[in-house]
Amino acid sequence: MNLLKSLPKVDKFVNDKAFEACAKPLITAIAKDVINNTRTNILNKECENFTYDELIEQVLKQYNQINSPSLQKVINATGIIVHTNLGRSLINPESFDRVKEVATSYNNLEYSLKEGKRGERYSHIVDTLQSLTGCEDAIVVNNNASAVFLILNTFAKNKEVVVSRGELVEIGGSFRVPEVMTQSGANLKEIGTTNKTHLRDYENAINENTSMLMKVHKSNYSIEGFTSEVLYEDIIKVANDNNVIDYYDMGSGHMIDLPYNLDLAEPSLLKYMEHKPSLLSFSGDKLLGSVQAGIIVGKKELIAKIKKNQLLRMLRVDKITLALLEDNLTSYLKGEIEDIPTLKMLFEKTEVLEKRAFLLKENIQDLCKCEVIHTQSLIGGGTTPNKKIPTVALSLEYKNYKPNKIEQLLRAKNLIVRIESEKVLIDFRSINESEIKEIETIIRGVFN
Ligand SMILES: *Cc1c(COP(=O)(O)O)cnc(C)c1O
Repeated sequence: MNLLKSLPKVDKFVNDKAFEACAKPLITAIAKDVINNTRTNILNKECENFTYDELIEQVLKQYNQINSPSLQKVINATGIIVHTNLGRSLINPESFDRVKEVATSYNNLEYSLKEGKRGERYSHIVDTLQSLTGCEDAIVVNNNASAVFLILNTFAKNKEVVVSRGELVEIGGSFRVPEVMTQSGANLKEIGTTNKTHLRDYENAINENTSMLMKVHKSNYSIEGFTSEVLYEDIIKVANDNNVIDYYDMGSGHMIDLPYNLDLAEPSLLKYMEHKPSLLSFSGDKLLGSVQAGIIVGKKELIAKIKKNQLLRMLRVDKITLALLEDNLTSYLKGEIEDIPTLKMLFEKTEVLEKRAFLLKENIQDLCKCEVIHTQSLIGGGTTPNKKIPTVALSLEYKNYKPNKIEQLLRAKNLIVRIESEKVLIDFRSINESEIKEIETIIRGVFN
């Protein structure tokens, strides 16, 4: 009972000098919590002793936790360039600087400077996308998932959408094509089998209630062996012949040919655009290398219909998104690919990565055992499923620590590594040159 009596009164406790710099309402709420919990623990015999200073420390710890930002910078040493859990594509700092003025000032987001009246939010990126892709028109929404939903809802509500069984995908975050279709009001018409779908399957599936032939990128799996799938260009032809819409959910829409022969399996957006598709949609923050967005390009009269859908208001993008996306697309127009971090990392030569690995090795080999190795990593983000690209990594060993233990210690310092064949790897494919010094500092802190 003595212990209970020595619990401080909240009113008095929060006036302690230790809380001088803290916001009163928040510190009072936390102090109440801490004192009440301690009381409960004493009664449950889970706490046998405490000191006044321990209580202060606990309260301050919680206070600081609440006040420090939850979203923080990490170093991505996994090698996965488009890492959805780590924020996908990076924004170029210079791009951010250019956008800063627009975002922190009034701007012509929905205002025509030429006519002095209301303008169109989506107009800002249309010219650029037309020049880049040859599309008739374009629109941008919150992400590619919303682009899929909006397109299905606009054109296929209570109508049939023909999709190959081999493409009924579930991608991360429980985005399942059949379920998205149900939610949008469209009726799924599955054709073909898991491994094989033929052109005649599309032709035979079309009836008076068909609105669309849809193709979905197999973003996180591949079907191998006895397989056949129909090329999008052939689907476009069948759609045109039968007066229905064709639509390709391309997932990660890359604007330029990919290196390491990846372009053979994954043609660029521009290759598809040569065949004049009705509609094509892709993400802004996968291999395009920009912000989270869903970009729809295609025929003018179809985009006009999408603009009339009330749902668009719920899925619309903000000025910051539009400004950053415009800046990214301008880099493509100017051919300045090195300004797009995602592509810069993707195209970086292994010799350059190797140099960086040796640089880090020299600086930390007095602390731990490390070795430069040539290996492979995935691009990530459902961009090129199961396809690996060459990379260079530094493997770390420390005393008799298990890889998991090392991974944990580094993660506590926001350095996210990969474990491969029982080895902790710092993979240089996804590391910025300017981060090497930071990595050294973190490793010094952990291994000392
Ligand atoms: C990634 C992906 C999506 C979802 O795109 P978000 O921009 O993440 O919403 C939809 N479809 C396919 C095929 C994808 O790969």
